[in-house]
Parts: sequence; structure tokens; C-alpha cells
Amino acid sequence: MIYTNHKIEFDAEKCIGCQICYKACFVDVIRWDEEAKKPIFKYVGDCEHCNYCEIKCPVGAVKVIPDFSSQSFRQTFDIYSKNNTSLR
Ligand code: SF4
Ligand code: SF4
Repeated sequence: MIYTNHKIEFDAEKCIGCQICYKACFVDVIRWDEEAKKPIFKYVGDCEHCNYCEIKCPVGAVKVIPDFSSQSFRQTFDIYSKNNTSLR
């Protein structure tokens, strides 16, 4: 697992408690607060920046802010540039 510094902004006022973000996250960054009926972005360091939580939220209560200096991004860019001859 590569840890990142992606940030997640969550607007609890907008959230309608549908659990979509919680169910969408494939790396279990998001836990569920049964009492408050809201997501808890608990393990943000594991976030893979797939953006599912942001895209799937029906009310725009989640925003993922990528850390472009993270190791995972650099690896992706390296692979992309190796496979893209126009960047050489
Ligand atoms: S961006 Fe993807 S990995 Fe990160 S919290 Fe959202 S669903 Fe999980
Ligand atoms: S998808 Fe959006 S509205 Fe639904 S629980 Fe998550 S933050 Fe709240």
C-alpha cells in the first residue's frame, strides 16, 4: 500500500446519509457513523484517488483533492510517459 496525502472535504450539511460513498470505497477509507448517519473519512492515507465517492455522491457533499506529489501519482506518470513516445 502506498500512502498519500490526498485530502477529502466533506460537507455534512449537504449529506443525506445515503451510504453510497461508504459502499463505493473499495479500500475502506470510509467508515459509517450509525448514530449520526454520516460517513467518517477515517483512513484517508489509504485513499487511491479513484474519485468514486465524489462522483457517486448525489448531492456533491464529497470532494477529493489529489496530492500530485505523491508516490502513486509519480509511478502512474512514469508508466504513462514510458508508454507514450510523444513525451520522450
Ligand atoms: S477517492 Fe476512492 S479510494 Fe479515495 S475515499 Fe473516495 S472512494 Fe475511497
Ligand atoms: S454519498 Fe454523499 S450524501 Fe450519500 S452518505 Fe456519502 S456524503 Fe452523504
